Amino acid sequence: MTGERNSSKKATKPGGGRRRSGKAPAPSVDVQAFVVRSTDYRDSDRIVTLITNALGKVSVIARGARKAKRRQAGCLAPYSMLKVRLSGRVGHNRLWHLGDCRTIEAYPNIQASLPKLALAGYFSEVCRDSVAEHHPEPEVFQLLRQSFQLMQTGTPTRAMVRAFEMTLLRILGLAPNVTHCVGTIDQACGALLGPIVSGGETEPTGYSTPEQSGSADVRPYGFSTARGGLLCPDCARREPCIPLDDQAILAFQSIDRLSMAEAATMRPDLPETVNGQLRVALLDRILDLVGHPLKSVLFIEKLKLDKMKANMEQSDEGHKGANAPSQQAGQVPISTDGAPSDDTDDTERPPSSQGGAS
Ligand SMILES: [Zn+2]
Repeated sequence: MTGERNSSKKATKPGGGRRRSGKAPAPSVDVQAFVVRSTDYRDSDRIVTLITNALGKVSVIARGARKAKRRQAGCLAPYSMLKVRLSGRVGHNRLWHLGDCRTIEAYPNIQASLPKLALAGYFSEVCRDSVAEHHPEPEVFQLLRQSFQLMQTGTPTRAMVRAFEMTLLRILGLAPNVTHCVGTIDQACGALLGPIVSGGETEPTGYSTPEQSGSADVRPYGFSTARGGLLCPDCARREPCIPLDDQAILAFQSIDRLSMAEAATMRPDLPETVNGQLRVALLDRILDLVGHPLKSVLFIEKLKLDKMKANMEQSDEGHKGANAPSQQAGQVPISTDGAPSDDTDDTERPPSSQGGAS
């Protein structure tokens, strides 16, 4: 709504003309943007949802965007940072009109990798569906940009994906409390949780697998979306929650202290058993926020299933994998230990941003 005022680069045309009926040119504004949804409209137009640095999430109409000759057409692909010129909101839907459009930061390594595309789709869809339109959220824009940059330069890790989710929730004022119990059965509990305490860094590398620790699958703690954070064992027994073990509590506290970039370099990465717990908890929080299933999550699940199936078939044939099918140069194998592997859960699908064409 107040978008224009916040735009980083103000329009060249002071325009002023408030009334569309008049001759005065509509005011325009230049912004940086990511396409997070694109839908065909009428014969040759496209309605595109953008996450911008200055205006937040906005919907724009791209006239003639489906005609190949228009420069816009090639420019409106997802997973590239664009510079676009928007002018006067038009029509009864009050859509911005898309003018000039060009790519200013591309991420070819994402485009070249299905797991990365899936993850980029997840990041895009979560950002798109967790923010309101016309509400400037420059930090969300930067988070999305940083996630793409990290995927361009490296292999996404489980910790990075969890840090993305935690950071987004923090930006939106919904960060889960991971240090004190949020249980409120009789009264606010507030018990200090886990091995944090004393400022003495808890080693993110200190995770042990259930086998190592000898603790089969003991999950006395909990995560409560309704309460907005972690539960101590006492409260977890009495409140609805997602069960967590002490390793997950430790991981939550570690991730909470890291930026996404820091988490991306955390070694070793979160163990799968720990990551799975955080993923379920954070996804529950995110789904509660967006209020509907995320297509990108379903897509990632499908990738995982396909991969499992392929693995089973491969082992059945006793192949020693001279040629891993989906592994081309620059691609992230869905299952490498790195991260997006089976971690594919983290990934999400591209469709969210591409949407469109249907
Ligand atoms: Zn408690």
